Amino acid sequence: MIFHIVTIFPSFFDGPLNYGVVAKAVEAGRIDIRVHNLRDWTTDRHATVDDRPFGGGEGMVLKVEPVFKALQSILPQRFAPAEEGNYGNTRVVLLSAQGKRFDQQAARSLLQYDEVLLLCGRYEGVDERITDHLVDDEFSIGDYVLSGGELPAAVVVDTVARLVPGVLGDARSSQFESFSEVDENGAPLLDCPHYTRPADFNGWLVPDVLLNGNHAEIKRWRAAQALAKRQKNRPDLTGGTHERG
Ligand code: SAH
Repeated sequence: MIFHIVTIFPSFFDGPLNYGVVAKAVEAGRIDIRVHNLRDWTTDRHATVDDRPFGGGEGMVLKVEPVFKALQSILPQRFAPAEEGNYGNTRVVLLSAQGKRFDQQAARSLLQYDEVLLLCGRYEGVDERITDHLVDDEFSIGDYVLSGGELPAAVVVDTVARLVPGVLGDARSSQFESFSEVDENGAPLLDCPHYTRPADFNGWLVPDVLLNGNHAEIKRWRAAQALAKRQKNRPDLTGGTHERG
């Protein structure tokens, strides 16, 4: 699977994607991450990617032309499809605070594509014609506003990469994780608490049940703990309201 990242700050990605599971996936050739500088598709001396908003107001807006040219050159198959509507199994994602929520299900939905292009906004955002004509998914990573789409793009790459077959290795990928399964009502389940040695630190004890080797009992305890934690932290997942503060 190839991830293309289009950004005005390519060196931003020197850090966050070079560690652990994602770095190993790149080394093993299971994923390929290609970072592209949006300014490479500008034509003026100042490599201008932004301009003032029509209608007035604060801030600057990312222009449509450089983005259009970037997409044309990175994913040419979308512009000269072999057949109508056949985009050669590519997906273009805009990171946006106004987007649909990016969750585990959205991450899984991206797995089916050979090439996923992530477009990082900056300033006040991007010209809406980009969203309307060039983008397949507009994703938000949460209900808060960041200064750019780079961190969200790294979040998407990390989340999708670990779902790519082979990336986690058999042992770990068969393990239960938060959001990988649902309960009988279709609400996502969270992971249970984990503990490791020492069994007593500072008088803070590991629950006895985990030390007694009764695997059926451990399984029941873990399931109950996971439900209790979900009820406490994420009642919104089961249709309740989230308490603040
Ligand atoms: N004016 C916009 C915010 C622009 S922030 C608004 O109020 O909605 C600049 C860029 O940061 C956006 O174009 C987007 O690419 C990115 N960004 C900010 N918050 C984000 C979020 N929660 N999820 C994904 N991308 C986000």
